[in-house]
Amino acid sequence: MKKAICFLSILGFLQATAQDTPPEQKRQPGHYDTNKFSQMYDLMATPNMFRTASGAPGPAYYQQQADYKMNIELDDKNTKLYGTETITYHNNAPEGLEYLWLQLDQNQKDRASKSPLVDSQKMDPAYTPDNFSRRFMEEGFDGGFKIEYVRDAAGKPMKYTINQTMMRIDLPKPLKSGEKISFSIKWWYNINNYRVIGGRSGYEHFDKDNNNLYVIAQFYPRMAVYNDVEGWQNMQFWGAGEFALPFGNFEVNITVPADHIMEGTGDLTNRAEVLTKEQLKRYDLATKTFDKPVVIVTQEEAERAEKGFSDKKKTWKFNAKNVRDFGFSTSRKFIYDAMAVKLTDKSVMAISLYPKESNPLWGDVSTKVVAHTLKTYSKYTFDYPYPKAISISAEDQGMEYPMICWNYGRPDEKGFVSDRIKYGMMSVIIHEVGHNFFPMIVNSDERQWSWMDEGLNTFLQYLTEQ
Ligand SMILES: [Zn+2]
Repeated sequence: MKKAICFLSILGFLQATAQDTPPEQKRQPGHYDTNKFSQMYDLMATPNMFRTASGAPGPAYYQQQADYKMNIELDDKNTKLYGTETITYHNNAPEGLEYLWLQLDQNQKDRASKSPLVDSQKMDPAYTPDNFSRRFMEEGFDGGFKIEYVRDAAGKPMKYTINQTMMRIDLPKPLKSGEKISFSIKWWYNINNYRVIGGRSGYEHFDKDNNNLYVIAQFYPRMAVYNDVEGWQNMQFWGAGEFALPFGNFEVNITVPADHIMEGTGDLTNRAEVLTKEQLKRYDLATKTFDKPVVIVTQEEAERAEKGFSDKKKTWKFNAKNVRDFGFSTSRKFIYDAMAVKLTDKSVMAISLYPKESNPLWGDVSTKVVAHTLKTYSKYTFDYPYPKAISISAEDQGMEYPMICWNYGRPDEKGFVSDRIKYGMMSVIIHEVGHNFFPMIVNSDERQWSWMDEGLNTFLQYLTEQ
């Protein structure tokens, strides 16, 4: 009896659900694959000499190479950045190139930039007078590259066209397969206050002591990717997508006020010229200390420096091998600590730079989290190939470049740190340091396919957080 009732009620339920099922959907235009069980072969790229069916590079696989020599100068008083760069571009593709494409990401902040049009048009319920006038009444920030020249190796002007955030340089004769070309670009731009007008880099201003903390990236004309799949990858930068770049070697000299402390991508080759004798000794100790960070520039020294406003200048020299980009951070507010991290057959440095406003949180936590991230990611993927990983304290930020990243999270005005801030800060440091593996080393195209590096990185971030 019970069974029968049960059976009937199931029958009734099935009938009810059958009636609720919508009629079979019509095929949508443009969608041809209606078989849930079909194989994916026709969605996969056809294997060829460049890319095999296994996913490994084929016998004719190549990558282009772009080497940079740059002289950069920061005008701290007027928040401007000046640069000259010589790019040597190696054409390893089997075909010749008639022109070159470069990324001008700073032009996303140009007055004529089209990127505000990609923002949805909405009126916030309330604006401060400052925000209202900035958004609707002022002329807007005068950002973007001011290109002074593009010259060939002989110093002759080259023909170029700028289209928004991309620049095409036309070559007088095609660059043949296996050949290289050197050319120079001189530029400057107004640095954006990223806390006021946004951006993945820029500066933060501290009203109390009138100092700036700079996180500088996407700051020089950079070679676009050329490959066998897309040819030139010349998608515009709208501010949200990130980037892909060819690998190369960087020699970068950066001139800043003498009382600034800096870190950047690559080996610092003139440490003895920019740190004091005492700081050098502390750095040396840090390279041999594996259990906790050693403070190299103390809070006391940083607080003294932030009152100085030196008129003198200092040049910091960096050398990076086989990286796809370069970033740096500089301020006279920086406290600097570091420790060594043991990997399989070498040790690398975990480093943090932060202003006094970030303490005691950053001094206690940041470098240890960097070290833990390098160990865990190296264990699950491959040993970290770079000499160092740097975490910079930059409020409202979470952004990565090779060897260096900017991370948010500071105590409030009264020095209180909520769990939300503390664990949020630790997560963002793991995440951004982790991006060194994907996509800085495994160079997927994050301008088009950001789910690739974000997906792999978020999975490893989770393992690291455990
Ligand atoms: Zn990410």
